[in-house]
Order: sequence, then C-alpha cells, then structure tokens
Amino acid sequence: MDNEQTTRSTKDTFFTQATCDRCGGRLESGRTMSRFNRDCICMECAAKERARGDYPLAVAVEREAVKRGIRDYPGIGLCEWASESLRTILPITQRRFLDSLLRSGSEDTRREAAAMVEAAEQQAKAFETMPKTGETDGQPESRVKAHLHYFVPTRTADWWITERDADGRQIQAFGLARLWETELGYINLEELQALPLVELDFYWKPTTLQAVRESIGDEMRGGVI
Ligand SMILES: [Zn+2]
Repeated sequence: MDNEQTTRSTKDTFFTQATCDRCGGRLESGRTMSRFNRDCICMECAAKERARGDYPLAVAVEREAVKRGIRDYPGIGLCEWASESLRTILPITQRRFLDSLLRSGSEDTRREAAAMVEAAEQQAKAFETMPKTGETDGQPESRVKAHLHYFVPTRTADWWITERDADGRQIQAFGLARLWETELGYINLEELQALPLVELDFYWKPTTLQAVRESIGDEMRGGVI
C-alpha cells in the first residue's frame, strides 16, 4: 500500500469492524480505505473501484489534497447514482454536492437533487454523441457547436467543449476557454473536473461557437477552426 493513503485519517472503526461498508461481506482477507469516500472496504470492492473510469480522477485529486496537507480529505464521492458518462464529465464540486444531498438530505432535497441529476444526465448524453477529436476541423464557427459548458460561479472563467477524445479514457477535449483571454485549444477534462470551483452547466443547450463569442462580446468571432 502506498504512503499517501496512510496520511488520510481513517474512521474510528476501520481496524475493528468485521464487515465491508460497501458489500457487507466479511473482512477476513484484508481491508482498505475506499479511494472515493471514507468507507472501509474488502479487497474485492477495492478491485471494483480500480476498474472504474473515474478511479484515476479519485487518485489524482487525493494526491493533490495530500500534497497540500488537507486533513480529513473526504474523497471525490462514489456517485453510484451517476452514469459512467456523467462521472467522466462531472466536476468534483458537484459530485460531492449531489452525493451528500442524495445520501442525507430531506425528501424534498433529495427530489430536487434527483431533478439536477436528470438534467446532468442530459449533458452526459450530449457528451456521448458529440464530435470526436478533429471532426470539426476546418468548419466555420457559425457551424461548430459547443456541446458542454463549464464555468466558475463568479463567471470569471468559462469552457465550452466542441470535441472530445475518441479513445476509451475521455481526458482530452477541444474547445473554447475564457480565462485571461478567450482562446481555442485542448482542454484536459480530468484537470477541469478537479478544479475546486468549476461546475458543469446542467442546463446548457448546444450552441454555435459564433453565438457563444457573441454572448461574451468576443471580437474574434466568425473565424474558422
Ligand atoms: Zn466489499
């Protein structure tokens, strides 16, 4: 086991509990802490975690938290309510937020959270069917659409995704980023998900880059990708 995990504080019952928090099975053949939350899990459940598409994100975010000396790091949340596609695009802020609402909120809160998840799943569907790397090359911005939108709530930064990676692990994407400048380029989805303030726009509708630029008053509109 690597050192990183030992710096996370384990729950009080970690060494004494007899059954796995996740599957309820006996912990005779070993136990470990989940990389997604603070569950004490059996080795079989740990192997299932490692096979998940969002496992690298869980490890990367934990590594960063350890590096910054954050105590009681809670994990990025298991998010069993989310589809694999949604887990691939959902930022950690919203993962944790929805995870906690769905686990412990009142009935009204859970209903509200479920409606948010439904909207988020629409974004995940858009992600599944959006163009792959290079597919919009050479097309005018009046035709290329942004299929996903990320933002920070203070509206100091936005990202609009026009293409996603074609291979299995959907990390690299392409699109328009508005930070100090507004520019087209590659956007690493995993890095974007890990940024603490970034949110996915659950109610985004595919919009041409030209219209996006017009909406933010960018003078470079009408170009060709
Ligand atoms: Zn288990």
